[in-house]
Amino acid sequence: MRTFKEPKGLQRWCRARKLAGAKIALVPTMGALHDGHLSLIAAAKRRGADEIVVSVFVNPVQFGPNEDYSAYPRDEKADLAKCRAAGATAVFFPTPANMYLPRHSVYVNEEDLSKGLCGVRRPGHFRGVCTVVAKLFNLAHPDFAVFGQKDYQQAQVIQRMVRDLNFDLEVVVAPIVREPSGLARSSRNTYLSAEEKERALAISRALREIDGTTFTDAKGRRATTAAIAKKLTAAGLVVDYVACVDAATLAPRKAIGKGTCVLVAAYDGKTRLIDNRVF
Ligand code: AMP
Repeated sequence: MRTFKEPKGLQRWCRARKLAGAKIALVPTMGALHDGHLSLIAAAKRRGADEIVVSVFVNPVQFGPNEDYSAYPRDEKADLAKCRAAGATAVFFPTPANMYLPRHSVYVNEEDLSKGLCGVRRPGHFRGVCTVVAKLFNLAHPDFAVFGQKDYQQAQVIQRMVRDLNFDLEVVVAPIVREPSGLARSSRNTYLSAEEKERALAISRALREIDGTTFTDAKGRRATTAAIAKKLTAAGLVVDYVACVDAATLAPRKAIGKGTCVLVAAYDGKTRLIDNRVF
């Protein structure tokens, strides 16, 4: 397994591999790798990638001023070992200074899907995500890139960016990996105390319990999202949003059914957790 710190080094190697006919997969991450991330590497392998490039970069540009950029868990050594064991063939560990040169001034803005949901609480977040992912696409020349459904809105935004900016690659979205308790795996779960972890289970439970719920108009939708919010609040979480949207457009849905996505964001103590379910 190769490791790269310099963007140029990664770019040269990927270009050479591509010219030699290799099928390249990119798995962008912020590290503190867990089974959710490793499932993306496994998905890349299953799709026949010859080279699987995992990027590990806590991207400062996607964090707001009061967010957890400094506290975000980092463990380069463990991440390398996990990538190797999972079958990655290259790991890219850039520093903020070599990803963002002095006077960096070009950013990518997706202006539709980014606006609602997490975009409300985290202004500038998707601008940071799109910018870094566009840079990674230009460095790794992937045939496809694998993202997790865990960050549903992010996956949609990236797909839109790929379409609208004509990136020549396929976006693959892999299912959410959960702990046995149902909690969606996340690097941020390491912030949770035992008590907070217990409380967090209300999120996946409420999403599971939607089964059998039906509604056919906006009033019914509001009743459903309010019922979910009530369960989360009762468990001791502070709800940011509960939304029931069209899985493709992220616009509010009038009826539940195929193509509906229910998304939740809630604070568990200081930790912001997200989860979703697609029908
Ligand atoms: P992160 O390191 O949190 O930025 O995530 C990197 C990639 O891993 C993103 O595409 C996430 O959606 C994906 N990911 C994170 N957690 C999970 C999970 N529990 N299941 C599947 N994919 C995940």
